[in-house]
Amino acid sequence: MYIAEQIKRLRGELPEGVSLLAISKYQPIEALQEAYDAGQRMFGENHIQEMAAKAAVLPKDIAWHFTGHVQTNKIKYMASFVSLIHAVDSFRLLCEINKHAAKHDRIIDCLLQIHIAQEDTKYGLTVEECRELLATEPWRELTNVHIVGLMAMGSNTDDMEQVRGEFRQMKQLFDEVKTTYFADDSSFCQLSEGMTDDYPIAIEEGSTIVRIGSMIFGDRVYH
Ligand SMILES: *Cc1c(COP(=O)(O)O)cnc(C)c1O
Repeated sequence: MYIAEQIKRLRGELPEGVSLLAISKYQPIEALQEAYDAGQRMFGENHIQEMAAKAAVLPKDIAWHFTGHVQTNKIKYMASFVSLIHAVDSFRLLCEINKHAAKHDRIIDCLLQIHIAQEDTKYGLTVEECRELLATEPWRELTNVHIVGLMAMGSNTDDMEQVRGEFRQMKQLFDEVKTTYFADDSSFCQLSEGMTDDYPIAIEEGSTIVRIGSMIFGDRVYH
């Protein structure tokens, strides 16, 4: 009953307007089923084939979010059902998702991933690259993808003031992008940030989707 209790406790804690995304990567089906039975309907996975395998056997009213790095050759395995892709970090990737979404006659919601943390990682757009993509690329012509917000990971550090500063910077970028490109688009409204160790700060700084894994499911079993 651990998982169900964690879901209920978190749900009670989140303010209105903040959704709980249960990050279920590497967790067995039974763990997801327990969360589902406790009312959870949004699940996030980091590997496309793992997500597709789970989606095939779990109830159909689950919204599957893809939170991992997107490999273009695997988009086809999720294009028919994925609800939100969190980590889009290039125009080329938007084009690929658009192509597969069109085949299924769908419009797939996406977030632009921003690289804001101190860590070196090859994923995510810098703030400058995000501005440049939106200013120069013909993303509005991609009629089968819809950019509905931004996503980020805070630095993996004990320095919570550092993390707070990063989330604050994200909110500023979100507001800037919203005003500049999405002023008339009420569906541009999502800021995906905050995990087990930093979600309370993310919420204080404007997050609308917290992505929580280990606090719900316990430690992940890697294989
Ligand atoms: C694994 C993961 C999470 C959840 O991390 P926890 O610390 O277990 O809550 C959130 N977001 C992304 C992108 C992840 O890969």
